[in-house]
Amino acid sequence: MRKVYLTYSRMKDYLDCPKRYKFKYVDKIKVSEDLYNACTGTLKQKIVELLYNEDWLFREKPDIIKDHFKQKTPTLYEEWAKDVERGGNFVDLKSFNRSKEVLLEETIRGIDQIFTIVKNERLLVAPAKDNRSEVDGVFEGSNFTLKGRIDLVIGNRNDKPIIVDGKDTLVEKGENYNDPDQLYAYALMNNYQFGVFPDKLGFMMFRFNKVRWIDPKSGIKTFEEKAESVAKRIQGFDFKANVGEACRWCKYKSDCVEHKKWLSSQGVTEETL
Ligand code: SF4
Repeated sequence: MRKVYLTYSRMKDYLDCPKRYKFKYVDKIKVSEDLYNACTGTLKQKIVELLYNEDWLFREKPDIIKDHFKQKTPTLYEEWAKDVERGGNFVDLKSFNRSKEVLLEETIRGIDQIFTIVKNERLLVAPAKDNRSEVDGVFEGSNFTLKGRIDLVIGNRNDKPIIVDGKDTLVEKGENYNDPDQLYAYALMNNYQFGVFPDKLGFMMFRFNKVRWIDPKSGIKTFEEKAESVAKRIQGFDFKANVGEACRWCKYKSDCVEHKKWLSSQGVTEETL
């Protein structure tokens, strides 16, 4: 049987609601999402990428980097929108274009946030050549192939690497935004490719000027087992609807028979809910 292609997001979508996974990845129904924080987060991640991969962190002042991003942000935004489309969503460009000025301001603010975090959390520990941002990761499981882009791996050539994922959410905690499974997925891939488990795993919370660290030891094995189980269910074409909390923000409600049935069983409509 063919291996199932998984990413952390695909797994999360499946676990939230298998039917939603089907709408998104099997039927490929596109929906518009509010992706403002995802966009500013991606742009801030580009700053991290430049700082680490191009070694700017060690040799440039924040003002020089700000000038660079003032020019580059519009292009980065266009690239991001294309990426989102490839990922199965589309960006409502009309409403988004109105926010371009705000977006630029937020990106520039991000430079100060990132410099503060790097200093406070001592993320300059390794020589620049051992740090890598935007690492394409892969892990071959028994019945799945896991892929993903790791935001930042610091010190990957010594025995104590640090894996960090950038988050631009205003919510500090909460599994929808900072799910440890995302970091376990990266740890699994990094170990598979480079033979080393991370010493530290954390979310770089741009708007909180800090990293939220999680325990790297617990959870990696459980994550692998979870991925295997999800892959098995997808191979078995198990796309049972999980009507409940996940429906509240689901963009596929209008296409979902199970959700409509549930509404009528409760004697309510979407408007009166
Ligand atoms: S409306 Fe609810 S049950 Fe239907 S696909 Fe969305 S999350 Fe799943």
